[in-house]
Amino acid sequence: MAVRSGAVSVAPILTNLQKDCATPLPVLRHVANAMAADMRTGLAADGGSDLKMILSYVDSLPTGNEKGLFYALDLGGTNFRVLRVQLGGKEERVVATEFEQVSIPQELMFGTSEASFVVFQLFDFIASGLAKFAQKEAGKFHLQPGRTREIGFTFSFPVKQLSIDSGILIKWTKGFAVSGTAGKDVVACLNEAMERLGLEMRVSALVNDTVGTLAGARYWDDDVMIAVILGTGTNACYVERTDAIPKQQGHASSSGRTIINTEWGAFSNGLPLTVYDREMDVASINPGEQIFEKTISGMYLGEIVRRVLLKMAQEGDLFGKSIPVKLSNPFTLRTPDLCAMQQDSSDDLQAVGSILYNVAGVESNPSARRIVVEVCDTIVKRGGRLAGAGIVGILQKMEEDSRGLIFRKRTVVAMDGGLYENYPQYRRYLQDAVTELLGTEISKNVVIEHSKDGSGIGAALLAAANSKYEHDF
Ligand code: BGC
Ligand code: MG
Repeated sequence: MAVRSGAVSVAPILTNLQKDCATPLPVLRHVANAMAADMRTGLAADGGSDLKMILSYVDSLPTGNEKGLFYALDLGGTNFRVLRVQLGGKEERVVATEFEQVSIPQELMFGTSEASFVVFQLFDFIASGLAKFAQKEAGKFHLQPGRTREIGFTFSFPVKQLSIDSGILIKWTKGFAVSGTAGKDVVACLNEAMERLGLEMRVSALVNDTVGTLAGARYWDDDVMIAVILGTGTNACYVERTDAIPKQQGHASSSGRTIINTEWGAFSNGLPLTVYDREMDVASINPGEQIFEKTISGMYLGEIVRRVLLKMAQEGDLFGKSIPVKLSNPFTLRTPDLCAMQQDSSDDLQAVGSILYNVAGVESNPSARRIVVEVCDTIVKRGGRLAGAGIVGILQKMEEDSRGLIFRKRTVVAMDGGLYENYPQYRRYLQDAVTELLGTEISKNVVIEHSKDGSGIGAALLAAANSKYEHDF
């Protein structure tokens, strides 16, 4: 018996999906304008906007003169990274870096046993990873008794920053759910864990990953004004004038500028959403939250596609009569799988077929595979274009306040995160949207640039800028 192609019966589902996900120029424009408006509301008062517009307490950006040996610790996804950076000042810049990556056990990411115990466990785990890394060099010149080493701590979740070296976790995102941590000062948690281990280190800068990326990119290029992360989650920060922050008129900054962490993942205004997005949101551990993030970031694109394919299999016989069991499991299809499928340019889409088989246990014919690729492209295109509109929203806000100073000169947007780094179609859709919105002339002045691993060095630079000690190497 021939395998049914299913192509005919899934057509209406695909057409509806494409209609619901469409991002023509007016939709992009609406999103950009809404982003700019929500930024202003968030700067005016706390709590009035989806965008928290968090003060970073980073008032001066790296100059290149930073010197000394610093550590950086990066916690934001399923891994944490520890980094050692030796800064040599203007001439030598980054003399040496070493790093190590440690994966976080699932039970620590979703710890739900007695709350305070779980927090201890997570931070003890991080501190001991840091200790192991630091002690590898203990025999050399590092970690001498009585000599406290300073750390830039990149913590990639929404934090209400209280100062450059303290801040309270507002909520977890990206699938983290460690009970008892919300409302705690994450720096105190880490410092206490280090003390329990007798580790002579202290956190001198607490930064969001976007802020670390901005600082790291700015170290090499003075025109960097915005940093965006597109990875598991998403967020953006930018350089703001302190007199444009009504809610914080008490905050003095000698430079007259400061970095604002927008937490744009929480944006929700006017997005083209589908039934699949709504169902995914309802089933998530943070329903109603992080809607922009759920539409454009790496953690979710694969899951949205899985939901569409499941519907096509159930109602349109996409993969013949049987519904593959694995396809019913949330998060079986991951964004890197979509990316791999979209790179297949062969006639019969062999690679798409094997990915579907390997990850979802699905047998497919070429016409079904073509539909799968169409679905991936629809979701990825919407994500990339909306991310582009978000960037334009920030640029627009800065342009309005600076009366022409942003668009008339070179402005760099530093980008990082696995989704941006590894997904060529996503990157292209993002750039296309920016160019469509700004027009070719202005978009020539806006440089969207990958800043690889800038956030680690950036955090170390900010630790240096906020150091309490004299450093001789
Ligand atoms: C977090 C942000 C972070 C972003 C990228 C989001 O889920 O709320 O703080 O910058 O992910 O890592
Ligand atoms: Mg990260």
